[in-house]
Amino acid sequence: MQKIIRGGLCNRCGSCVGLSDGKIVFDNKEGRYLPQIIAEPDEPTMQLILKACSGKSFDFPAYREHIYGNDTAFHSYTGSYKSISIGFAPDTDIRLNAASGGIISAILIYLLEKTLIQGAVVLGMSKTNPWLTQPFIATTREQIMEASQSKYILSSVNEILPEIGAFDGRLAYVGLPGQVQSLRVLQKERHPWVQNIDYIFGPFYGNTLHFSSIKSFLRSYGEKDYHKIQKLYFRYGEWPGNMRVELNDGKVFQLKKFYANYLIPFHIVKNSLICTDLTNEFTDVSGGDAWAPVYEERGKGFSMVLARSSKGQQLVEAMTNEGWLSTTPLDLETSIAMHSHGYDLKKRGAFIRMKFMRLLGKPTPDYGYSITGFGFSRYLMEIVIDSLFVVLGTSFARRIVELLPPTFVGNLFEKSRDIWKKSTKNIKRQDL
Ligand SMILES: Cc1cc2nc3c(=O)[nH]c(=O)nc-3n(C[C@H](O)[C@H](O)[C@H](O)COP(=O)(O)OP(=O)(O)OC[C@H]3O[C@@H](n4cnc5c(N)ncnc54)[C@H](O)[C@@H]3O)c2cc1C
Repeated sequence: MQKIIRGGLCNRCGSCVGLSDGKIVFDNKEGRYLPQIIAEPDEPTMQLILKACSGKSFDFPAYREHIYGNDTAFHSYTGSYKSISIGFAPDTDIRLNAASGGIISAILIYLLEKTLIQGAVVLGMSKTNPWLTQPFIATTREQIMEASQSKYILSSVNEILPEIGAFDGRLAYVGLPGQVQSLRVLQKERHPWVQNIDYIFGPFYGNTLHFSSIKSFLRSYGEKDYHKIQKLYFRYGEWPGNMRVELNDGKVFQLKKFYANYLIPFHIVKNSLICTDLTNEFTDVSGGDAWAPVYEERGKGFSMVLARSSKGQQLVEAMTNEGWLSTTPLDLETSIAMHSHGYDLKKRGAFIRMKFMRLLGKPTPDYGYSITGFGFSRYLMEIVIDSLFVVLGTSFARRIVELLPPTFVGNLFEKSRDIWKKSTKNIKRQDL
C-alpha cells in the first residue's frame, strides 16, 4: 500500500479509510491529503483494500462486460451507453442551484420522492470546517440541494462506507470515477456494506485540485486565514457559475468559473492526469457540462447526460415523460466533439503520461486497456503541457501569481486557453 501512496497512484477515493475500521486515516486534508496507516489492518482486510484500490488497478473491459454486457453500445472514449442527450431539470430551483443542468440532483430527488430510495450518498461541505468537503447520506430534498454543485478540491466519498453499510434503507450513490470504480469492485465482491446501493451516478471528471488552491485564491485577495471561510462554492449562481468564498467577517470574494480555472495548472492533483475516465464510465447515469457555444450563450444550465445501464435508461425516460427532466437526444460524434478537449486529456494525454512515467521507472495504474498510436505532434504537445504543470506547480510560481489580481490572471488564462485550444485543435481532433 505504501508503494501505491508513494508512487502517486492514490486517487483519494477513501475506500481504504472506510474499510479499515479506523486503522487508516487521511492525515492532512488541508495539505497532501494522503492515507496514513496508524495500525496494520488484518490480512483479509488488507487484501480487500488492495483489491478495491482503483488507484492501483481497475479492469475496464472486464467490468464493462460484467455491468453492461456485450450488447450495449460502446465507444472507448464514452464507455458503454444506452443514450446520450442534452438535458436539464425544468424545476428552476434545482437547475439554478446546481453545477450544470441539475440532472444529478433532480434524479436523486425523484428517486427519494418516489420512495425508490430512502437516502443518497452525496458530497456536501463540512458543517464544522466549511472550507472542506464532507460526504454524507442525504434523506431529504433540502439536503440533496445543499450538496449539489461540483466540488473541485480533493474529496473522498468512500470514507463513509461503514455509514453506508449501517444505513437502514435503499440508497443511491454519487461519486467521481475512481470512487465509483472502487465501489463496483466491492459490489462484485458482494461486500455487505454496499448491498443496499441500487443506483450509481456521477459527474464527468477532468481534474481536481489540492486544498492549496483555496489558500492561494484567498491570498490573491489579501486574506491569509482560510479558517475564516463560512461558505465555499465552486459553481455559485447561473451556469457556468462562479467560485465564491464568504468569510465570517462579511467579506465575499467571487470569480467567474472560467476565470477561476487559472488555479488548475498551479494546483492540479497530478493523479487526475493519469485517470483515463472522463465521463464516469461505470455509473448508471453520468452527467457533465454541455460545453458548446449554443448552450453556453443561453446560460441557465445544460448537462450532457449519458444513460448507461437499462436501469439508468428507464429512469431518464420515466423522468422525461413525467416532466422531471428535459432531454434532447444527441449523436455520439457531436457528444465527443463537444468534449474533445477532455477526451484528449484523458484518452490520449493520460496514456502518454503513463508511458513517460514507466520510462522513468515509476508505477502506473493497470486499467486493463490502453490506447496507442498517437502522432509525434501529440507527444510534443504533451511534453509542453507536462512541463507547464511542473513549472507552474512550484511554490515560486504559485507565490508570483498570488501577487496579481485574480480577475486579471483569470482573464489572461481564459484568453491563453482559447488560443491554445484553437492552435492545438487539429492535433486534438485527429481521429476523434
Ligand atoms: C472534480 C470535478 C471535475 C469535473 N470535471 C468536468 C469536466 O472536465 N468536464 C465536464 O463536462 N464536467 C466536469 N465535471 C462535472 C460538472 O461539473 C457537473 O458536476 C456535472 O455536469 C453534473 O451537473 P449537475 O448539475 O447534474 O449536478 P448537480 O445537480 O449539481 O449535482 C452534483 C452532484 O455531484 C456530487 N459531487 C460534487 N462534487 C463531487 C466530488 N468532488 N466528488 C464526488 N461527488 C461530487 C454532489 O454531491 C451532487 O450530488 C466535474 C465535476 C467535478 C466534481
